[in-house]
Order: sequence, then C-alpha cells, then structure tokens
Amino acid sequence: MSRTERDFYRRDESERAWMIENTWCGACRLPDLGIDEPREFEDDGRIYLEGRCRICRRVLTSEVVDQRERSPAA
Ligand SMILES: [Zn+2]
Repeated sequence: MSRTERDFYRRDESERAWMIENTWCGACRLPDLGIDEPREFEDDGRIYLEGRCRICRRVLTSEVVDQRERSPAA
C-alpha cells in the first residue's frame, strides 16, 4: 500500500480543530478525547488522520470523510 503524506496544516484552523477533537479512541472507548501530533496522509485514494490519543497515548488512525457529506449525527 502506498501512503502519501499530506499537509494537515493547509486546512483552515476551524477545520483542523474539528478534526482533532472529533475522534474515537478504541482503547479508551470514548469519543472526542482529541489527538496530539496530528498527521494527515492518503492511502489508496482515501484520506486519513493519524494522531495520539490525549488520554492513553495510543496512535489512532481515522478516515477523513468529506465535510460536505458529514452529518451532524456522525
Ligand atoms: Zn485513548
């Protein structure tokens, strides 16, 4: 699988804040704990955001869904 780094910091500040806060940690089993050290990459045509859970420090990877298709309930 080819993984291409993308520049997370090209996104605007409010979008970055939303992406950093809206997380799901499978280890803590809690949403919205937030991540540190965010890194964005593309793999097989999909965009992912990776970072460390602020609570347990595990690395989380989540797919970035196009914001225009994002529903408030997601
Ligand atoms: Zn965690």
